[in-house]
Amino acid sequence: MLLKAKWVLPIVQKPIEDGAVVIGGDKIKSVGKFEELKEKYPTEKIKDFGQAVLMPGFVDAHSHLEYSVFRGLCDDLSFSYWKMQLTRKSSKLSDEDWFYSAKLGALEAISSGITSIADSTNTGASLKAAKEAGLRGIIFHEVVGMDNSKVDETISEAKKFVSSWQAEASGTNLEIGVSPYSVYAVSPPLFQAVSHWAREEGLKVCFHLAGSLDECEFVKYGSSSLATLYLEQMGWSDFLWQPMGVSPVKYVEQWDALESGKVMVVHCVQVSDADIDILKKYDVSVVHCPKCSAKLGMGIAPLEKLLRQNLKVGMGMDSPASNNTLDMFDEMRVGLLLQRGFEEKVDGFSAEKFIGLATLGGAQVLGIDSEVGSLEKSKKADLIAVDISRTYQSPVSDPCSALVYTANQEDVIFTMVGGKVLYEKGKYSILDKKDVLSKAEPIRTKLKS
Ligand SMILES: [Zn+2]
Repeated sequence: MLLKAKWVLPIVQKPIEDGAVVIGGDKIKSVGKFEELKEKYPTEKIKDFGQAVLMPGFVDAHSHLEYSVFRGLCDDLSFSYWKMQLTRKSSKLSDEDWFYSAKLGALEAISSGITSIADSTNTGASLKAAKEAGLRGIIFHEVVGMDNSKVDETISEAKKFVSSWQAEASGTNLEIGVSPYSVYAVSPPLFQAVSHWAREEGLKVCFHLAGSLDECEFVKYGSSSLATLYLEQMGWSDFLWQPMGVSPVKYVEQWDALESGKVMVVHCVQVSDADIDILKKYDVSVVHCPKCSAKLGMGIAPLEKLLRQNLKVGMGMDSPASNNTLDMFDEMRVGLLLQRGFEEKVDGFSAEKFIGLATLGGAQVLGIDSEVGSLEKSKKADLIAVDISRTYQSPVSDPCSALVYTANQEDVIFTMVGGKVLYEKGKYSILDKKDVLSKAEPIRTKLKS
């Protein structure tokens, strides 16, 4: 099949005007000018997207698909209170509710041009939904626990989950990792045990780190609402939390949590230069979630410093519970504007730079950049088409400008993963939109009560 559009954005080279991509099976065969490829592949069926951009699918480097039904239910709360609200309401959901919530997330991801995810899940619902939906990426099994006497038990349970999830993911585009949730939900010995296990098994690791000031105060002084209200809500008040007197990054380093070699950390808003040096020392990847961090009052991550250290950085959207939409265009736009405001300068943050973070950058964070993240010969055919013909976009002379400054998730008209079309012009080839939306309504009613 030969896909043609006004612009092709390979990421690893400049945009190609009147470009095309040739697909063979699940891979990309060639990328270039339409006229040249038409001559080289005269028998290929041509699909013309017209005034559109063909580009690699977005990599959402941090998601919780299963939180999708919480959209709009935890607004206008600071991070700690948001987390407590989410935890309180979560207890109302059944396994089937979680599954449909995750399917709602998968539905939105696919129609928003997301082809790969790195999803953290407590219930496993995201694995089932992502598998059914045909998404690519990593599903992280969440591990939590503050009781030091139960570390062995928790690890043994987690091993069983990971093993059964690996069997469930076999033959799909998904792999399984492990996520010690955060410093306020995982005791130091448990962090250490997860890290040692991950290193032995070669598992990828993901956790939230240095997001809010509350988290910093919790680690450093044993204070903030995380140390009082949150621990109490979780039934962990009896476990002695020893203030560490250091930053969250330094603290996890002390407990070997960065040592497994395949670690990605989410947020990194509250990081000093010394913290960034530590992340660099262990080659830790960072997931930048600008909208979520701003909405929950966590702050603005020092992206320029992270990139200057040559850390691998991708874009994450966390979940509709905190970010309300899985719109990577919005994420790039807000992310870019916040950085310019924060740094009080325009240099260094271009539209092209953010598109790179949202595609190849994310793929590097997930460790799948040899397969996806750019349009190149022999890479997997994970790509999307974005309509740029609307009044608010026209006229277009720079596709990167159009994508970051004007486009939104509704402009995605085509999503393909591994050569399979998952979405085209409002129609899903696998998921049943009507069914998922009808199931989401009664779950919302349950959550509101
Ligand atoms: Zn998260």
